[in-house]
Amino acid sequence: MNKSVPFFNYPWLFKHNREKFIEIFTDVSDRGSFILGQDLYEFEEKLADYVGSNYAIGVANATDALQILMMASGLEKGGEVIFCSHTMVATASAIYHAGGVPVPTEVGYDRLIDIDSIESCITENTVAIMPTQLNGRVANMDKINEIAELHNLDIFEDSAQALGAKYKNQFAGTFGKGGCISFYPAKVLGCFGDAGAVICNDHDIAENVKMLRDHGRGDDGEIVMWGFNSRLDNIQAAFLNYQLDHYSLIVERRREIAAKYNDELRDVEELNLPPEPDTEDHFDVYQNYEILAENRDELKDFLAEKNIGTLVQWGGKAVHQFTELNLNGSLPKTDDAFSRLLMIPLNLTMDDDDVSYVTESIKEFYSKV
Ligand SMILES: *Cc1c(COP(=O)(O)O)cnc(C)c1O
Repeated sequence: MNKSVPFFNYPWLFKHNREKFIEIFTDVSDRGSFILGQDLYEFEEKLADYVGSNYAIGVANATDALQILMMASGLEKGGEVIFCSHTMVATASAIYHAGGVPVPTEVGYDRLIDIDSIESCITENTVAIMPTQLNGRVANMDKINEIAELHNLDIFEDSAQALGAKYKNQFAGTFGKGGCISFYPAKVLGCFGDAGAVICNDHDIAENVKMLRDHGRGDDGEIVMWGFNSRLDNIQAAFLNYQLDHYSLIVERRREIAAKYNDELRDVEELNLPPEPDTEDHFDVYQNYEILAENRDELKDFLAEKNIGTLVQWGGKAVHQFTELNLNGSLPKTDDAFSRLLMIPLNLTMDDDDVSYVTESIKEFYSKV
């Protein structure tokens, strides 16, 4: 048997839509519309419509989106921003480069920021909480809002992985001052390189973001502040525009695969699975299907022998474990989780047989240990 289930297949998107993407490339190139063009503005409008925000503003990547969002919101220099250590280092580096102090906190059993650990990190210098809506699931925003209100803190969302995910019918990225979306190729909505967007509702913040991403230029082109060059390429926006039209189908298939994984793996005692696609308050898009697994490293090797690609997120380290970054915090719960976290494949190249092949292989592994 030569079955193989890759963790992610980078050439697949283009192969699968080759003619359409060549047509888009030709159209945009013939128009010579590469920077701040009509495709970008259409995409921004469509994206804002989709998530129900007042504004969506394309930038070069989601890391820039977070940094620019915080700067546009007037983040205080030296202000502490609490984030969950189970996230990409980008969350922390964006806080750092925006002039803030990143303060890592624990991850909960659901892989999201541990609500109960947030308050113990609050000091007189705390200015904001930045939950990461990890794996395409939104944290309990009622509770985070409650804590933020009580301590007079802002909320910024690292919603890079959560385009389309909802909490109580409200989209990721729309809960606080703003959020970000990443269009990195392996994200649920990916392009052919780096790209990102800021999501926000406030008019002044949106105006600041637009100036910051484009060298600090105001409406008439005059420079009115120190800015960056962090624009979303018009050609990437055109590719994204096309895909956003079919986005709900992409999300539905991901949710279907996740439900099948949950059904078939529910009885494996050695595993802690992600929540079901349909729980009362959450609508998840499953950017990743991340489990906690006993004997994780042996399981990973066993699956590799069966040509099943798996990945330990962030190369196996939580942000507070990067000692060179000198972040405070002893986070035992997070350390424990990181010895067991594993992502199994969930992508659009998979058919139902592939899903079963993965679950059967996992069951075979645990029947032996
Ligand atoms: C991908 C990702 C980012 C960064 O997005 P880029 O577009 O690559 O800059 C930030 N946070 C999380 C949680 C991510 O998964």
